[in-house]
Amino acid sequence: MQYRRFGSLDWQASALGFGCMRLPTVDGKALSGNIDEAESIQMIRFAIDRGVNYVDTAYPYHEKNSEIVTGKALKDGYRGKVRLATKSPVWSIKKTEDFDLFLNEQLKKLQTDYIDFYLFHGLDKKRWDNVVIKMNLLEKAESAQRDGKIGYIGFSFHDRYDVFQEIIDGYNGWTFCQIQYNYMNTEHQAGARGLRYAASKGLAVVIMEPLLGGRLANPPAPVLNVFKKTGKTPVDSALQWVWNQPEVSLLLSGMHTMRQVEENIASADTSGINAMGPEELAVIGRARDKYKDMTLIPCTRCGYCLPCPNEVNIPRIIKLFNDGFTYGDVETSRGIYANYMAEASRAGSCVQCKACEEKCPQKISISEWMPKAHAVLGEGQSYPVNK
Ligand code: SF4
Ligand code: SF4
Repeated sequence: MQYRRFGSLDWQASALGFGCMRLPTVDGKALSGNIDEAESIQMIRFAIDRGVNYVDTAYPYHEKNSEIVTGKALKDGYRGKVRLATKSPVWSIKKTEDFDLFLNEQLKKLQTDYIDFYLFHGLDKKRWDNVVIKMNLLEKAESAQRDGKIGYIGFSFHDRYDVFQEIIDGYNGWTFCQIQYNYMNTEHQAGARGLRYAASKGLAVVIMEPLLGGRLANPPAPVLNVFKKTGKTPVDSALQWVWNQPEVSLLLSGMHTMRQVEENIASADTSGINAMGPEELAVIGRARDKYKDMTLIPCTRCGYCLPCPNEVNIPRIIKLFNDGFTYGDVETSRGIYANYMAEASRAGSCVQCKACEEKCPQKISISEWMPKAHAVLGEGQSYPVNK
């Protein structure tokens, strides 16, 4: 295992962290609460035995059962071999006291009296302003620190770069943060700028979704051909690209099978900062170009089309629509559309007024694409074009 500097802490983190959000399940349904405990425990312990020293879970993962299984995996001496991370379910906190209620419940589920790294889960502008700040949760976290219940305070993030910077600048007690980052998402959310900004402030940066939720693991034929010529797998190449960057402290992989654990550990063993040569980086560039060639709508996510008078979240819908097509995984896009977008902001609210179109520098026929996007994402229809 390779180890890396973890921000300003005097501690080295394993390049690979074990993410307990995609454990194997008995019913075969990804993310379900019906976790295959025996297999999961074996996988987590196997990884720790080979040097993984960071285990990450969260309150809602696997329908609130991930923390329970993680706690079982860390019995028999394994708790002492790792730093444990879990997250406060910010969206469920309705009053300040709820912070402690959740924390105490998590300690119990994890069968530990101490969580090394405690994150505010999934911060965005609204959760930062309306929950963390308004309910004085930073003070609550510091109080939990003084009580010896948590070690270091951090946050995971899903919003625009400017919000990321605001959150980093808004509190001087952050030790680390967790962002989504992979070779296809360098400008999405915090992105490369956020990675560098957080590192420049001394924060450790934990990377989630290094394979874009697994989508980069099974690329379509044109992308696969790019990797075939190198003799490396798309997974190994994607992970090495993340590790290549000095600002990255570790990456989390939500491993689903023992084979994935073995492969990811083998990749981590050969990882390094600035270890990729120009040709390897060029391969990643070519894979990225192939994916971009397969993009249906040339939206740059500049946001100039907003606000839509009918509250349609145009860039987000286009991204989900594009991603489902490009990565051949429309189900993930449909799930996000149904569960994480307010109904009013979905494409079905578009009335084809075209007010957005004159503001779009890419001259995208937004009013024509919105009904098509809603048919695919909201009504289960097939894409109106073929690959
Ligand atoms: S203005 Fe055009 S390119 Fe920019 S986010 Fe809107 S649709 Fe995309
Ligand atoms: S055409 Fe649709 S998306 Fe564009 S401004 Fe009008 S309602 Fe909003």
